[in-house]
Amino acid sequence: MTDSPALVRPDRRAELAAGLARVRARIADACAATGRDRAEVTMIAVTKTYPAADVIALAGLGVTDVGENRDQEAAPKAAEVAAAGVAPRWHFVGRLQRNKVKSVLRYADTVQSVDSVRLASTLAAAAGGRDRPLEVLVQVSIDGDPSRGGAVPSSADPDVGLGPVTGAVAAAEGLRLAGLMAVAPLGWEPERAFARLATLAAAVRAEHPGATVLSAGMSGDLEAAIGHGATHVRVGSALLGMRPTLR
Ligand SMILES: *Cc1c(COP(=O)(O)O)cnc(C)c1O
Repeated sequence: MTDSPALVRPDRRAELAAGLARVRARIADACAATGRDRAEVTMIAVTKTYPAADVIALAGLGVTDVGENRDQEAAPKAAEVAAAGVAPRWHFVGRLQRNKVKSVLRYADTVQSVDSVRLASTLAAAAGGRDRPLEVLVQVSIDGDPSRGGAVPSSADPDVGLGPVTGAVAAAEGLRLAGLMAVAPLGWEPERAFARLATLAAAVRAEHPGATVLSAGMSGDLEAAIGHGATHVRVGSALLGMRPTLR
């Protein structure tokens, strides 16, 4: 039983506890600095490249929300975590190919990366049999460049325009439009990126009042995101350590 995922090595547990304490302090400081209630901000531990044992250890330390970006990695990991009797909320945060939708729906509570009407339709069709609607965030491209994913604000394209995509999710039975997700574009100051995102989110909320979630901010820029209204920050490396490969 030495390879049981529940038996994370004590030194790894201590490392995760220290990372978690640092990230929690950063979130609390950022909330205090901008006059926000700490309870408004949920930390999602992005565990990609790290094993199920780390997810289980983090859950034991009070982490409730976990993010993954590749189904090939996430599906077996989620199964291993569930088999250990641990049940975090799973957020799918990566590019989602339509042929992976069925698999992702087996474990994901929230899909944060919906960026086309086509993908929304595929998700809606697959989510039909669920007992509660799938929580969906529409990923938005802050700089309007769709090459790194994200629906495009003020695009007339009926498949990837932000308006059509949020409208399709809101209209789909089986999906709930919970809000927006974004990644700060390369080369942009986080302050500028998240200020623009806040404007986009306000416009979406004006049309869809239930779309209150704003998933923004990662290890390097979570303070700026919290300053501009993030309700969820997605933290990987600051919590778990530097990943061996960028992806
Ligand atoms: C990997 C990843 C993160 C976490 O990034 P870190 O810089 O390691 O905190 C957040 N969001 C998405 C979509 C990711 O793919």
